[in-house]
Amino acid sequence: MSRDGFKVKIDKNNIIHNFNYIKDSTKKEIISVVKANAYGHGLKEVVPILVEGGCKYFAVARKSEALELLSLNLPDIKILIFETIEDFSLLKTHNNLEMCINSLSEFKELIQKDINFSQLHLKFDFGFARNGFTKEELNEIKNIIVTNNIYFKGAMTHFFSSNPEEVISIQKDFISWINFLGKERFEIIHSQNSAATILGLGEGSTHVRCGISLLGMLDPGIENENIKRSWTLSGPIYNIKDFSDLDFIGYTRKNDLDTKSYNRVGKIKIGYGDGFAKNNTNLLCHINDKEFPIVHISMDTSFVLIDDSIELGDSVEIYRNFEKCNSFLNMDHYEYTTLLNSRIPRIINEE
Ligand SMILES: *Cc1c(COP(=O)(O)O)cnc(C)c1O
Repeated sequence: MSRDGFKVKIDKNNIIHNFNYIKDSTKKEIISVVKANAYGHGLKEVVPILVEGGCKYFAVARKSEALELLSLNLPDIKILIFETIEDFSLLKTHNNLEMCINSLSEFKELIQKDINFSQLHLKFDFGFARNGFTKEELNEIKNIIVTNNIYFKGAMTHFFSSNPEEVISIQKDFISWINFLGKERFEIIHSQNSAATILGLGEGSTHVRCGISLLGMLDPGIENENIKRSWTLSGPIYNIKDFSDLDFIGYTRKNDLDTKSYNRVGKIKIGYGDGFAKNNTNLLCHINDKEFPIVHISMDTSFVLIDDSIELGDSVEIYRNFEKCNSFLNMDHYEYTTLLNSRIPRIINEE
């Protein structure tokens, strides 16, 4: 019997399939977004898979993530950081590193710094209220661009909605702003996240910026059977006890639990120390294709109520049905996959 803890299994073929499907169906280049440890799937596992699939362009949110990606020493990849980092010199030492300019003040600061603008992307804001230039700033930006004769790597925006009508109208404005500033000044144009990519929106862009869809996840309400799931979380039952001996299950008094369909409790090696938070209490997991409730979650272990059909070493799968788990947890699947931390090994399944 395996005494190992829980593992996340990454399906290599499905990730490559998703990459190829998006590339073929959009006819655009893909910037693979691998922020937040590739949404918890494992940066150092997922990125080489995508490289093998043909991806050469990656994006992350933070400088720390870019440094981690650089440390993988993968040849010939470009890395875009969404935030504007303070340490501009990093761009000079790494010419495969790119960054977004998120505000007018940052832009003005950069002009003073002798930065290579072919490593920079101008970001436009259409009401996300996160960051980016607004319409009121366009004239001033154009002045700076023309005066300094600047040519950028890219122009980008991020959609705040997946409502097709809204997205189409934002994309139109986005393209018209680019034309106003001079289309020839931007080598690439990108706006679509996974939702907009799968919905086929983003006319005029040269690249798509996909994260979750490459990993087989889609936003609630968006469906596409060609996007294949590539993530499972499972581990064995490593201890079983009869209820009759017990007053407590974990720290919970047995009488306080709804135990009627079950007579035993199984221990599993996953807990909030792994990023499996207590709000998963009473979530149903799958053992031998049957559902059982996880009743108590502690730092290192959790307990599952089981019946006589379950044996030591049987595999417990958590989060098998994303849709059901999302509604139980009131979270999105990419939120709880991201929460699982480095205590849980990521294993690549190549079959
Ligand atoms: C996270 C992110 C993406 C990717 O979004 P998905 O929904 O995972 O495809 C794209 N662009 C920006 C700016 C992001 O922050």
